[in-house]
Amino acid sequence: MSHRNLALLATALLLMAASAAEAKQWRYAGMHPRTGQPRDGLCHLESPHVHSAAPLYADTLYRTRDNVYVFIGDPTPFGYEGPRHSYYGHHPVVLNVLVDIDVDVDVVEYCYHDGPHYHAYEPPPRQEFVDKEDVHYYAGEYPDEYRRENPKLVRVNTVYRGWNVPRPVVTFAPPPQYHGPIIQVGVNVDVDVRVGGRPPPPSREVIIIRDDDDDDHHHGHDHDHGKHKKNKHKHKGRD
Ligand SMILES: [Zn+2]
Ligand SMILES: [Zn+2]
Repeated sequence: MSHRNLALLATALLLMAASAAEAKQWRYAGMHPRTGQPRDGLCHLESPHVHSAAPLYADTLYRTRDNVYVFIGDPTPFGYEGPRHSYYGHHPVVLNVLVDIDVDVDVVEYCYHDGPHYHAYEPPPRQEFVDKEDVHYYAGEYPDEYRRENPKLVRVNTVYRGWNVPRPVVTFAPPPQYHGPIIQVGVNVDVDVRVGGRPPPPSREVIIIRDDDDDDHHHGHDHDHGKHKKNKHKHKGRD
């Protein structure tokens, strides 16, 4: 490359850098998906930092505090290989514990992942959890904020559904202390995936959940229940 071309290139790079600096920057703290596409992996910077890329699925996978985006989702689809903690259903997440923000009162947000899922973080202190099968269940009451945000934030499940994420295996019904939604999601899904080459319809995930005292007889029951749901939308009208 000639000197002149090099100079031009340098100028172009400077201009690009300048416009990037003016472009909007997004502040993050803690580990987060690099782009939001599973294949792009995770950014592991713990301390607050900026990216020129906006967070993908910002409204469901992140919570914000002073314009800083904190990822609270399940990191599994993004190739996370660190220690994992198993959870079931909806539970509080304390942002100031997650990313070390200095506050007087806990900043409590809620995770709306349905059914069994993983997090990189353990259950936050000062919140009530019970464990069963090494899975954490939130044992406290859900406040009004949780309910108010529910219709919007449960969409996190739609986002994850497309990613065929491995989940912790749960074989027993949740403990009575858990008051959140109980969703049957599936341990058997993997099998289906390999058959057709095409991913199974997302709404058909089924997990086997049984009560402690009824190990063997419960099966057919739950199974049927799932089955009948298919194509059952149209009640009225022709038949
Ligand atoms: Zn980052
Ligand atoms: Zn969660």
